[in-house]
Amino acid sequence: MNFYIMTLFPEMVMDGLNTSIIGRAVNNGLLSIEAINIRDYAFNKHNSVDDYPYGGGAGMLMQAEPVYQCYKALSEKITEHAKEKNEEETVKKPRVIYLSPQGKTFNQGMAEEFAKEEDLVFLCGHYEGIDERVLEEIVTDYVSIGDYVLTGGELPAMIMVDCISRLVPGVLHNDVSAEFESFQDNLLEYPQYSRPEVWHEKRVPEVLMSGHHANIEKWRREQSVIRTAKNRPDLLEKAELTPQEKKMVEDLSE
Ligand code: SAM
Repeated sequence: MNFYIMTLFPEMVMDGLNTSIIGRAVNNGLLSIEAINIRDYAFNKHNSVDDYPYGGGAGMLMQAEPVYQCYKALSEKITEHAKEKNEEETVKKPRVIYLSPQGKTFNQGMAEEFAKEEDLVFLCGHYEGIDERVLEEIVTDYVSIGDYVLTGGELPAMIMVDCISRLVPGVLHNDVSAEFESFQDNLLEYPQYSRPEVWHEKRVPEVLMSGHHANIEKWRREQSVIRTAKNRPDLLEKAELTPQEKKMVEDLSE
């Protein structure tokens, strides 16, 4: 899977994503991550890419043209790659995600959908954002990482790349670990324990030491339901619970 990040701060993005599991997946050729500097497409001698907003107001706005030229060069490159791989399409229009507090809030389901793409382009805004006209022309998806405002789209893009990458086969050593995690089936994950058996006088729950897989699964499911009921009751509305589990949730809220 190929990630392309259009940004004014390419080092920030690359430094953050070139470590640990994602860095290893890049080295192994499972992912490619490229940050493209929008400033390289500035069209004035001062290399500036921002200007005052019409109508007044605080702050500066990223101008349409550098963003558009950057996008054009990138889509030509993606089309070239597709041709090299003998894919049928002559013009490959990549999905372009604009990171914006005004977008749909990112979640695990969206990550799963994005993970099906071969190429994903992220557009990071800065200052007060980007001239609306270029957004209308190139953006396919508006995504927010939460109801708060950051200084730029770089951290949100990194969060999305990290989350989507984990779903690409082979990126996690053990692909099963991506299957049983929080938000799967709208439940949070159960508590987990590692050695030693006793730590600060707290003992690992007996059932986990029993080797009885059915009982372990039963305990974990119960713990997931209890955690979700306590921490994220909103998720439970969409979870499929057995009648016994529904009763357990009712008892918890009494
Ligand atoms: N004036 C904009 C508004 O009110 O919608 C906010 C601009 S913000 C200061 C600058 C950039 O940071 C945005 O263009 C966007 O790329 C990014 N950004 C800020 N908060 C974000 C969030 N919660 N999710 C995704 N991107 C965000």
